[in-house]
Amino acid sequence: MEPAAVSEQQPSPPASLEAKSPFDLRVHLGDDIPETDVRTALANGDMGFLHSYTTGSTVDGPGVRVVAWTTGCMWRCMYCHNPDTWTMRNGIPVSVARAAEQLRKYRHGLKVMSGGLTISGGEPLMQDRFVVKLLAEARAMGVHTAIETNGYYGDRLTDAELGSIDLVMLGIKSWGDERHKHLTGREHGPTLDFARRLAALKKAVWVRFVLVPGLTDDPADLASISRFSASLGNVERVEVLPFHQLGRYKWQQLGIPYKLQDMEPPGAAAVESALATFRAEGLTAY
Ligand code: SF4
Repeated sequence: MEPAAVSEQQPSPPASLEAKSPFDLRVHLGDDIPETDVRTALANGDMGFLHSYTTGSTVDGPGVRVVAWTTGCMWRCMYCHNPDTWTMRNGIPVSVARAAEQLRKYRHGLKVMSGGLTISGGEPLMQDRFVVKLLAEARAMGVHTAIETNGYYGDRLTDAELGSIDLVMLGIKSWGDERHKHLTGREHGPTLDFARRLAALKKAVWVRFVLVPGLTDDPADLASISRFSASLGNVERVEVLPFHQLGRYKWQQLGIPYKLQDMEPPGAAAVESALATFRAEGLTAY
């Protein structure tokens, strides 16, 4: 039997798939899609839920990138900048065809600017079938492909599917199950297993690490993450991302208790110290 047809709605404002920034607050844009259609879409990947597309990013992979921000995440990071992306139905329901068409507009420019498509989130692998299909479309256009993932559902992708991804930007949030659960709500092991699998496949990886004073800056943890990253042999760079408060208003407007309300960003010395820890293991760190 053919899968149930999935209608694609144009939500009320903001209706545009393009956003100026992923820090735009977007909610309830997929609420009207019946639950059965959501399940079908997730199973066959013909439709996904996107917070937005942004263009011109120079911080989400090599060159200048178009970024597709998916909705849905299984983690609840205490410092999350985009808690509106936790709920899949906060995103706009988008067919693969529409998502590919959006990308097609930029394909020549992306090549000229040595960029490509990055699928981020939320957690893209919550919608792994949609992501695989969109990546295949990008590949067919000759566009460089990257995903930014926490790796927890890395086993949803086959080795062949990983072959259609040029770069994995892997978030390593903390070290050790206890701290990791405290920070994200989930255990650490699947992310590390995925990292090891990517290493065995010799897949290019950038590690992303968010530095939060008093939460992720324990020197022993940083040393452990550095040693682990260096041991993999496929980590091309480490990006240390200083915590910021651009997403604080989202927690407030969504009414979600936010424990980092008064947290200050790390100082320059703390960032330099973290970078030095990674570099001491021979890693390229920015
Ligand atoms: S994995 Fe990313 S999107 Fe999910 S809660 Fe953590 S920071 Fe937010």
